[in-house]
Amino acid sequence: MKTIGLIGGMSWESTITYYEILNSQAAKKLGGFHCAKILMYNVDFAELEENMSKGNWDANAKILSDAALTLEKGGADFIVIATNTMHKLVPLIEKNISIPVLHIADATAERIKRDNFKKIGLLGTKFTMTQDFIKERLTRAGLEVMIPDEKDIELVNNVIFNELCLGKVLQSSRKEYQRIISYMKQRGAEGVILGCTEIGMLISEKDSALPVYDTTVIHAQEAISKALA
Ligand code: GLU
Repeated sequence: MKTIGLIGGMSWESTITYYEILNSQAAKKLGGFHCAKILMYNVDFAELEENMSKGNWDANAKILSDAALTLEKGGADFIVIATNTMHKLVPLIEKNISIPVLHIADATAERIKRDNFKKIGLLGTKFTMTQDFIKERLTRAGLEVMIPDEKDIELVNNVIFNELCLGKVLQSSRKEYQRIISYMKQRGAEGVILGCTEIGMLISEKDSALPVYDTTVIHAQEAISKALA
């Protein structure tokens, strides 16, 4: 079994889900007392959040590159970055390490294509929805990506940073997300990507008018398949 180098803490709420899936999937696939081999580097999200809001992405690239290098030196075979937004920095992180990064968008695109969907909604942080680091990867895989309108981009982003990343799950926000997903369906989306690792705390398949692609679950499942391949 390969050793997974997991960079967590962004937020720690969603890292719990990664940890749970990695171990339970390993147990399911191998049986008995098996669980996943994981080296985890949990960053302090307060530092990264402050850098992000100041636009200081270089500082975040340094923190995450150092974390990845530490995991590599510790014996990790590949890196899993447990957040969508920080995938913005993957090209910089990759320059500092010699093991691969398992990209969250590639695993997700594969899953959507397997279901033969093409037009897909994307929910995530403002960075993820408006910039190219995830969208471009999905488009390159042949998908057509739909994002909410400007007002709803703000709403989705505020719920992530003011509630979910602090462990708050509110029914009023679930309703807003449901409204946004239903509107995506009206506009022709065939599924919706929960493109932020905390959204699964708020929205599951049963809450959604569209089939959901939860990047946390998909990424963790892909990681364990790679570890056991
Ligand atoms: N976990 C979130 C994501 O998947 C947001 C936190 C962050 O900015 O890393 O994008």
